[in-house]
Amino acid sequence: MSKLRDTYDHIQTERAKWIQGSLAKKYSINQEKRYVHPFHMFGNVWYVGDSWVCVHLIDTGDGLLLIDCGNCGATAMLVQAIWEAGFNPKDVKWIVMSHGHLDHIGGAIFFRRMFGTKLYLGEPDARDYREHPELSLIQESGNLADELFEPDYEIKDGDRIRFGNTDIQFYLVPGHTAGCIAAFFDVTEGEKTVRAGYFGGFGFNTMQKAFLDDIGDTKHETRKTFLKSLEKVRNQKVELFLGNHCTNNNVLERAKKLGENCKENPFLDDKAWGEFLDFKRDDMLKLMADPAQN
Ligand SMILES: [Zn+2]
Repeated sequence: MSKLRDTYDHIQTERAKWIQGSLAKKYSINQEKRYVHPFHMFGNVWYVGDSWVCVHLIDTGDGLLLIDCGNCGATAMLVQAIWEAGFNPKDVKWIVMSHGHLDHIGGAIFFRRMFGTKLYLGEPDARDYREHPELSLIQESGNLADELFEPDYEIKDGDRIRFGNTDIQFYLVPGHTAGCIAAFFDVTEGEKTVRAGYFGGFGFNTMQKAFLDDIGDTKHETRKTFLKSLEKVRNQKVELFLGNHCTNNNVLERAKKLGENCKENPFLDDKAWGEFLDFKRDDMLKLMADPAQN
């Protein structure tokens, strides 16, 4: 047996063991089956995400802005989606991350190195990248070469930032991670201007008892922080709810309706935001009342 073959066999054995025991099996292996043909949502907003993690492209008239950049290992899919939507990936000037988890930051380093794209991340998550990189879950990416980054700009609560023709009002909405962002901005199509709203992280995976105990939040304060964050932005006027994951606003079902040329744009819905935030509040209260979670 050659040394080369020994190395190959060793790595295959380790790889199989590792995949078996990691989240990668579920999250990042064979994810091309999640490809979604990109589509125009409204005004200057396009959907270029997959069937699990949302990515929104905003054509600001002075470069493209992405909100999130896909799962780790899904960058080729994102690049394909941007081309298929009729844009050139090199025009992506800025990427705003909803939060610092591995499934939202996949393309960040590629876009920075390839096109000089500027990376924006909530300040608390930027701090966690330095002090607690494990909270990004990058270790589950399925690729040992994946790494975190130092953002070009750390988003603070109340920041208002202009990207080309689009003025975005940001808030920090900690809970799912410490640095989740919420974003609100106007989108115009023809005579109509609507308010878009985005909440950067609803998942309870990081608010389960086992997770919180492990990271030292034994009183589970993070859950109360999450409830406060929902309340903080609950009454924002939102007519175009942009999801963080597809299930938040049923993006694929709405896209199907859009494709069927229904009269009203199915993404324009002034109830969806409030209803979903209230649903997450009630769901969190249920989790907090569950004895197995205390
Ligand atoms: Zn997350």
